[in-house]
Amino acid sequence: MKLTNKYGLPQPVVTALTRSEYTRGESNRSITQLIDAPRVRILKQEHHDELTEDVSEKLWAVLGTGVHKMFENSADDSHISEERLFIEVDGWVISGAIDLQKIENDGVIVSDYKTTSVWSVIFGKIEWEYQLNCYAALVRRSKGLKVKSLKVIAMMRDWKASEAEFKQDYPKAPILEIDIPMWTEAEQDVYLDNRVKLHQQAEFERLVGSELPECSDKERWAKEPTWAVTKKGNKKATKVFDNPEEAHAFAKEQGDAFEVIFRAGVSTRCAGNWCRVNEWCTQYQKSIENS
Ligand code: SF4
Repeated sequence: MKLTNKYGLPQPVVTALTRSEYTRGESNRSITQLIDAPRVRILKQEHHDELTEDVSEKLWAVLGTGVHKMFENSADDSHISEERLFIEVDGWVISGAIDLQKIENDGVIVSDYKTTSVWSVIFGKIEWEYQLNCYAALVRRSKGLKVKSLKVIAMMRDWKASEAEFKQDYPKAPILEIDIPMWTEAEQDVYLDNRVKLHQQAEFERLVGSELPECSDKERWAKEPTWAVTKKGNKKATKVFDNPEEAHAFAKEQGDAFEVIFRAGVSTRCAGNWCRVNEWCTQYQKSIENS
């Protein structure tokens, strides 16, 4: 991984942001990687030495890890902090670092710390459900313990007291414990097995020179095209439609001062290079050529 310092940050900041103690160890087959698209994982593996990251992009991850450390050092005897567990699935060793386990008589409460946004807490993230259910399988299969519930301890970077006071659905505090739906043990095992098979198949395809499986719309954070009705000269839409017919009918009702603006769909993760591998990704390169 090559590091840049695009914004000329001073040495102590750069050193602190790049200290290896802040990097959470990850095996090549961690739960977080299995949940992600095989294309992303394999391209990252193949181009690891060429990947570039600016030190400024490390800020939230480092702050998150610092908070992890703070909580880890404050755990009492009824909690287990930061334990990496391993299980074997279809010949692969799969690992996951579990932030917090509370051992109770009737089972374990498995929690994960997330430094996140208010938006993610309000709307939820399915990835949290996948990750926590895989952690439940790890605890059950590696330690032989029953898991009784799953939680995310969410720390919201952009939380505002003023919004919490007046908006009904807004989180009431900047740090909250959130319940995550727990699947049956069979559902957890099937999900894990399927993810391992998918990644194994992708590695096999790569070995024999075939194309990697494509990232899905969800994995690319794809947004459908929309048609916005705006007052002429205004950028802000009066109303946004997912088809042109309804947009034009609505604009007509509003009168001559209104027009329909087409907003092309975009795969945010690819276009913003959030996966870090878009320059080597044939799926993305083809999508640019075809647009
Ligand atoms: S650029 Fe898009 S399609 Fe390619 S690996 Fe990244 S997320 Fe997947």
